[in-house]
Amino acid sequence: MIKGVKYYCNVYLKQMTDLNYHTSHEECIMKSYRKELWFDVPTRRAFINITPRVRECITESGIIEGLVLVNAMHITASVFINDDESGLHQDFDDWLERLAPHEPISSYRHNVGEDNADGHMKRQIMGREVVVAVTNGELDFGPWEQIFYGEFDGRRKKRVLVKIIGE
Ligand code: ZN
Repeated sequence: MIKGVKYYCNVYLKQMTDLNYHTSHEECIMKSYRKELWFDVPTRRAFINITPRVRECITESGIIEGLVLVNAMHITASVFINDDESGLHQDFDDWLERLAPHEPISSYRHNVGEDNADGHMKRQIMGREVVVAVTNGELDFGPWEQIFYGEFDGRRKKRVLVKIIGE
């Protein structure tokens, strides 16, 4: 609490001051939640809808109003938001292969004892993380938005971090 700053409590829907914050509104202190989701994709590349797993995290956190951050913890995987439509996913995969083809492996300077330079580049295009508003205990989404894990160098265990803050 910073003296002189006014804080608002969503539980009691009234303005608070630093004087009463720690005495009568203990429930209102910001909550924080952290979880790792694990993936072991059997193919080199895949897109997985992880929206239900993020929803489970929100329920488990008990957070009603806040923000959820979902990020890949690996540099050859992505987390992104788009439509859950198989044609589109194939279009993404074809487009990424045109931009950064897996082969020839020798065409990448990174591929010295590794073969995943294309995976690093595909992840860079598809992004590392998403941040979504949590409103009334739900993902505050538009009609077609879904959260995906994008794998670009699979066949091993990898992680996604879910961090939720709010009250
Ligand atoms: Zn690499």
